[in-house]
Amino acid sequence: MSNPTGVMFYYYFVCKRKLWFFCKGITLEDNSEDVGIGKLIDENSYKRENKHINIDNVINIDFIRDWEILHDIKKSRSVETASVWQLKYYIYYLRKKGVDIEKGVLDYPKLKKRIDVFLEDGDVEKIEKIIDEIDGINKLQIPLSIENKKICKKCAYYELCYV
Ligand code: SF4
Repeated sequence: MSNPTGVMFYYYFVCKRKLWFFCKGITLEDNSEDVGIGKLIDENSYKRENKHINIDNVINIDFIRDWEILHDIKKSRSVETASVWQLKYYIYYLRKKGVDIEKGVLDYPKLKKRIDVFLEDGDVEKIEKIIDEIDGINKLQIPLSIENKKICKKCAYYELCYV
């Protein structure tokens, strides 16, 4: 597999079964009401920025300021670990391409909060291990078992897992 996408990296932390569905091209997320709300917040909150930057179909970021700071807009802090690691992956990926990204920022316009995200000691090793693990999950013939998480009820794949 080539470089995992940011969404894959995110799903790795959210649910590995979800990651497998996504790797196999089963994408139901656009039908989810939550994503709709997320897009609405996005469209109304940052009108003056250069937005929606897609790099190599790997990175899909809300906006980049001066090619130094990545901004990712989120509606809630419910899967914050996944959001943090997705941003760390973007910093890692862009630095490898020679773009000296200083940090990422998670923006929560609804909560009026911001969290700075840095690539710290040991993160590169962890990211490279996760890239290998995502590759392993992608190669599986059948999905991993249901993880039965709090987020399942809001997950776009709920019907594939429980109905
Ligand atoms: S419904 Fe739950 S187990 Fe199934 S893919 Fe979504 S988060 Fe994972």
